[in-house]
Amino acid sequence: MAFYGCKNLISLKIACNSVLNYELGSTSNGYVSYYVSEIVTEHIYSAAYAWSDDGKTCTITITCANDKDHGTVINGTVTSAVKTPATCTEMGITTYSVSGTYDGFDYSDSKDVTDIPAPGHKYVDTVTAPTCTERGYTTHVCSECQDTYTDTYVDALGHDYHADFVWYDDCKSCTVNIVCSRDVSHGGSVAGTVNSKVTVPATCETAGTTTYYVTAEFDGKTFEDSKSVQDITALGHAYSAAYAWSDDGKTCTITITCANDKDHGTVINGTVTSAVKTPATCTEMGITTYSVSGTYDGFDYSDSKDVTDIPAPGHKYVDTVTAPTCTERGYTTHVCSECQDTYTDTYVDALGHEYSATYEWSADGKSCKVVIICAVDSAHSATLDAVVTSSVKVDATTSSMGVTSYSVSGTYDGFTYSDSKDVRDIPALEPASEEKESASGKTYGNTVTENVTTEVSSIFNTAKDNNASVEVSVPTSSTESPVIITFDDAAVKAIGGNDVTITANLVSNSTLISDAEVVLEVILDGAKFSDGKATVHIPYSDTVPAGKTVKVYFVNGSDRTDMNATLSDGYIVFETNHFSSYAVVLEDVPSDGNGNGSEFPIMYAAIGAIAVLALAGGAIVVKKRKA
Ligand SMILES: [Zn+2]
Ligand SMILES: [Zn+2]
Ligand SMILES: [Zn+2]
Ligand SMILES: [Zn+2]
Ligand SMILES: [Zn+2]
Ligand SMILES: [Zn+2]
Repeated sequence: MAFYGCKNLISLKIACNSVLNYELGSTSNGYVSYYVSEIVTEHIYSAAYAWSDDGKTCTITITCANDKDHGTVINGTVTSAVKTPATCTEMGITTYSVSGTYDGFDYSDSKDVTDIPAPGHKYVDTVTAPTCTERGYTTHVCSECQDTYTDTYVDALGHDYHADFVWYDDCKSCTVNIVCSRDVSHGGSVAGTVNSKVTVPATCETAGTTTYYVTAEFDGKTFEDSKSVQDITALGHAYSAAYAWSDDGKTCTITITCANDKDHGTVINGTVTSAVKTPATCTEMGITTYSVSGTYDGFDYSDSKDVTDIPAPGHKYVDTVTAPTCTERGYTTHVCSECQDTYTDTYVDALGHEYSATYEWSADGKSCKVVIICAVDSAHSATLDAVVTSSVKVDATTSSMGVTSYSVSGTYDGFTYSDSKDVRDIPALEPASEEKESASGKTYGNTVTENVTTEVSSIFNTAKDNNASVEVSVPTSSTESPVIITFDDAAVKAIGGNDVTITANLVSNSTLISDAEVVLEVILDGAKFSDGKATVHIPYSDTVPAGKTVKVYFVNGSDRTDMNATLSDGYIVFETNHFSSYAVVLEDVPSDGNGNGSEFPIMYAAIGAIAVLALAGGAIVVKKRKA
């Protein structure tokens, strides 16, 4: 090749295997070499590095691609440097470097070899001790890499509790303070449960001991303590006394014993005194109180006993006699001068009143003052509220004045008092016919009667129940004694139990029975004498005229039946088994005339004067039949 005119060519590079011969400044090889300042033969070198395994040596073989004769072998200079240091457990890496120079060129290479040994961990050990609740162990830490692990475990110690017992209130309570010896922050306070027991009993003279036991639970453990205190007061002697009295209270033995110890005590003969507790009365014995006393060991003992030993003297009665009065019994009163005890005896019946009446008539018979006075006690007196009635006793005739009978009657204390007074005060009549009156539906001739009806059922019933007879007493104002009608037992039994009334009438100057001095009419209504009979007593107070006698006839129309009346004890008496009209008639003594007529009492004056026939309830008596 030729470079022609290339003035800027300074350096000429020619491959080593070129056939050209260039020399500097030569023109034979061409002008190029002439013009350049330098000629450079260029090899195509390459190097091969042959390392030893350990990197310590390396042979550098340099060869030229153009000419295998070009090149060389160099023993390179090897240096080393740590590329990666070793760790505790990983080897480190060394980088080996080789270099050499040939033909103006530097050659170098490097090789990494893992040839720095790992030293292993360098552990530093730290021991952690166990606590009450945590395990103990050893900690290993590598001072190089801080690698760490733990081992060598030791069990937790557990608390080491100890109790401090604080007693209060005479050992009645206790606070238990629990502290762990390993750690004062462990523990707590609890109230213990305190029990006690007498461990040394008190005696009469020495104090006893109580032992107090406390238990407390904490963290599953039981803590106990005890404390003994001599806190039981000595008992003292419990003396009591037994008193053994003699029956009469004169002596007493006192036995003193101690309830706590039978060896303590004594027996004393007590000193006995006496006093009257309750004096004797007339009938009750008195009581003496006996007192005993004694002293032992600073104490006084006493007792008492009552003995009923004071004799009773008996009553000292003083007698007083109280006389009977009209209404009160008499009796003897006995009063004890000591105690005023009293009783009465020796009773005497009451005297009863002895009443009698005085009649103070006015001259005309229109009024009468009736005064009742008791003969026993004149303070018992009364003026009766008496009523005067009148009736014609003797009719006036054309030739003479008539007689009016005035009657007074009053009742006092169950008795009827009657009196009458005749006054001839009826003027003489013009000649006239007979009068007729009627009463109770029946016709009477010239009636001077009051018709009295008395209901006597209860009397007959009572008599029948009591097996009694009945006596009906009929007071009159002109007789001292009443008309009496007596029913015998058989009659009472026949009549009793019925609704019975008795009607009684007294008729004088009867125009129906013209010759009768008086007619007594008795009507029993409501029952009949089916059996038995009645006895009629009519009182009389005068004597019959000479040559006359008194007869009683049962009148039935024109028939007359002699009732065979008799005289007895001041009464004209007859019996009947039925009631009707009975005429009392004055008759001539029979012609045989043996003289008894003059002795026969006349009823005329007695009965003829009766104006009022009363059947008063109070005058009816029931007579108890004799056994
Ligand atoms: Zn070469
Ligand atoms: Zn390490
Ligand atoms: Zn602890
Ligand atoms: Zn004692
Ligand atoms: Zn007495
Ligand atoms: Zn009297």
